[in-house]
Formats: sequence, C-alpha cells, structure tokens
Amino acid sequence: MSKAEELFRLICEVKGSSLNRLWTISLEDFVEDPLPGFQYEPKAHWEARVEFSDGKVVVYLGPKFFDLSPESRKWVIAHEFAHELESSLTPEEVNLLLDKVQKEEIFGPLAKDGTIALGPNGQYLPLECATETYAMMFDKEGDELLKKRWPKARRFVAELAAKKGFVLPKKVLKDYPDLKKFYKPHRGYSVLSLLAG
Ligand SMILES: [Zn+2]
Repeated sequence: MSKAEELFRLICEVKGSSLNRLWTISLEDFVEDPLPGFQYEPKAHWEARVEFSDGKVVVYLGPKFFDLSPESRKWVIAHEFAHELESSLTPEEVNLLLDKVQKEEIFGPLAKDGTIALGPNGQYLPLECATETYAMMFDKEGDELLKKRWPKARRFVAELAAKKGFVLPKKVLKDYPDLKKFYKPHRGYSVLSLLAG
C-alpha cells in the first residue's frame, strides 16, 4: 500500500467512524480510547506531529492539542497531513524554495536577519511556511488569504505539488492552467479536502 493509499484509508476509516470525535474529544477520553492512526505523546511540547514511514502514517498528539478549539484542531491536523509534500522534497527542491524565499520574498518581506518576518505559518521557517501554504489552499478563507498576501508562494507550492503528484483543489488548478500538463495526482488523495469537509 502506498503512502497515499494508507493516508486515504486512515482518513476514511477515521472520518467514517469518528473523525468528528477528534475535534472535541478530551485528553482523558482519547487516552482511554484513541482514534486509529493517532497516538498520544504525553511529553510533547508541540500540538501535533506526523510521521510518514514505511508506507505508514502516524499522527502524534501532544497535551496542547487537547486545549485547542475544534476549528484549531482541524487546522493543526490539516497542516500535519500537508507535511507529506514538504517531506517529499529533494534537496534541489528545498534549495529552490529557500532561494525563492530570499530573492522573491514569496513568504513576504524578510526581517533584518534574513528570516521570514510574517509568513503563513507562525514558526517563520521556510518548510513550515510551505506546508501551511499547501494546507491553506484547501480552505476557502485560507486560500483567499494566500491570494492576497502570498500569491507567489501559492503559485510556487501549487507547482511543486502538481509536479510531484500531489492533489490540488480545483480552484487552485484553474488559476494555473499551465500546471494541468503535469497534474496526475497519485499522492495525498484528497486527504486535505476530506478534512476541510
Ligand atoms: Zn509543521
């Protein structure tokens, strides 16, 4: 089973049975009866983290996740799944991204020390910003914000996704007709669209 199939299976399984549980479940209830594909990490300082390995995907949830509102939890999970794109980048693709961050300021103007001053992700790390850009495309308001504030990043990440076989929302694909020739999605099947509901 490919990563994408595994993801798809996981999401369908979770969504079909109890994905909605994840948006409101308490920490105590989760520990007692965790959702398939998700694990609790009591010592974590982060909200969630995802691991893609050997065709398996596991989402680890830290204590902070359970303090979030249902809407924020959805965002966190969408972001974690969007990491599959970032984790598939070659060193050349990462360098191209870093180059665009510096020269074209695709995530907005840089701070004096050369870091991203105000990008789409709070951590201001280029790979985190790229991940958040990909996740935001699947959300109506998120995508509008991308178009307004980080249009170059939207275009660049869409191109990366298309060329690497990741799924793109129809609306995004429509804006970049030249990407259609590359577009043969075989990874991350609609996982984010499913999460967006
Ligand atoms: Zn992240």
